[in-house]
Amino acid sequence: MRFVGLLFAACAPAWFGTVGPAVAAEPADVLIQGGTVYSGAAVPPSSDDVVIVGDKIVYVGLDGAKRYQPREIVNAQGKIVAPGFIDAHTHPETFVRSKDSKQRLNAPWLYQGATTLLIGVDGYGTPDVTKERTLFEEQGIGTNLVLYVGFGAVRTQVLDEDDRTPSTVELSEMSKLVAKGMCEGAIGFSTGLFYAPQSFAKTAEVIALAKEAATRGGIYDTHQRDESSYSIGLLNSVNEAIQIGREAGMPVHFAHIKALGVDVQGQAPQVIAAIDAARRAGQDVTADQYPWAASGSNLESSLLPRWSVDGGRSALLIRLDSAAQREKIRAEMRENLRRRGGAESLLLTSADTPWTGKTLTEIAQTWTIEPIDAALRIIRTSEHGTDVASFNMSENDIRLFMRQPWVVTSSDGSDGHPRQYATFPTKYAKYVQKEKVISLDEFIRSSTGRSADMFKLDRRGYLKEGYFADVVVFDPARYAPRADYLHPQVLSEGVEELWVNGRSAIHAGKLTGQPAGRVLLHTPPVGSCP
Ligand SMILES: [Zn+2]
Repeated sequence: MRFVGLLFAACAPAWFGTVGPAVAAEPADVLIQGGTVYSGAAVPPSSDDVVIVGDKIVYVGLDGAKRYQPREIVNAQGKIVAPGFIDAHTHPETFVRSKDSKQRLNAPWLYQGATTLLIGVDGYGTPDVTKERTLFEEQGIGTNLVLYVGFGAVRTQVLDEDDRTPSTVELSEMSKLVAKGMCEGAIGFSTGLFYAPQSFAKTAEVIALAKEAATRGGIYDTHQRDESSYSIGLLNSVNEAIQIGREAGMPVHFAHIKALGVDVQGQAPQVIAAIDAARRAGQDVTADQYPWAASGSNLESSLLPRWSVDGGRSALLIRLDSAAQREKIRAEMRENLRRRGGAESLLLTSADTPWTGKTLTEIAQTWTIEPIDAALRIIRTSEHGTDVASFNMSENDIRLFMRQPWVVTSSDGSDGHPRQYATFPTKYAKYVQKEKVISLDEFIRSSTGRSADMFKLDRRGYLKEGYFADVVVFDPARYAPRADYLHPQVLSEGVEELWVNGRSAIHAGKLTGQPAGRVLLHTPPVGSCP
């Protein structure tokens, strides 16, 4: 085969030059050549040229320079060329809703090579998808956005924060809102059954609403009811989500899959077995995952019982002044601290405090008091809450989940945790390069093509002719995270060129300032919407 290839290559120019038709080079915007090209598909990398015209990729192959006359040639020698990364679960509120156009570029994501973000997750997506789309596109955004309609938004609109079962009329009102979101272009129905008031819903209520998304081609995305041992337990919770998908008749997607806390650490194999069994039975079940052992939270919600903050901070302080109430609070805090892995597992991350960068154990030792009392002292003095990185996952579970062929990359990026700025480079630097948990192919596949397939994103996630030109060029030797738990807002390094919809978003390692993002709408099946 090699011989034939060489022969063809040797003969082709002469043949074209003499008897073949003259091939005029077509104009193009960008030609990327010389790089190692990962197309997003499950195939080995190539040394193809990639050619961009307008917002599309028009050519991927070896003859780019012959066939096209580009305005710009990018020499990607020694670099990796891949589809722009897709972040399956994000909370970029302080960026996409900012009044500052520079902030709306979503720089933390662009510097990681991410070009598409899924938002409205955990049940927070508004049913007013058209309104959202108009806002984002009129103001200008730096990355593409994909929207969910969320259970929390819908339930709050109809039932407020009430802990009760909806009436028939209320359920139908909620159904209409889910249908509206789907018909306006949401890709699915997201829930956050862990959070109040969504946690008040019984399974049947969720199924009834999920069906509205199912009939319109939507996916069910869930921050499940319990990732730990707080209510029904991790495995029951996984089964509940699978049941919802089965009975509503739609794909199930687990947000940020994990086994959180000492009671469930080590249960990744059972979670994987439950999902694999559902998949074998013909169900479409997938997940996303962030490559971090700590979740981001605050000291208050990590440790305080929910009833103790009923009425807000002032009510909490009054309760703490009563000896009897304080004892009750301390007892429950002790249990929550145990569940999260002890005082050693809580790193205090709020900037510029006497305890910044210390674990709760360290600060308790300094003050020679119990960790619970150290936590209470901090809570009393911190009017606006205290950020913590809560180290509650085991590396073994993280690695097992990461290796599954139905898992894709997400950041869960929100303020106060390095994952917003450093998820993709961290997955690459730690789990590909250093620990070799997954291959480079798998890193790219789980951040591009597989994600696009899962979420049915139209012509995204692959370097393919006719696909949208979301393309990243990064230096495999320099691509690295710079943010850490104490400095969570430091931009990542190593992305040299990045295009979003064919427009340059990063050039020579620097932001161009172009808001090239779009809202990517899902098209419901014909006849499913008015
Ligand atoms: Zn979540």
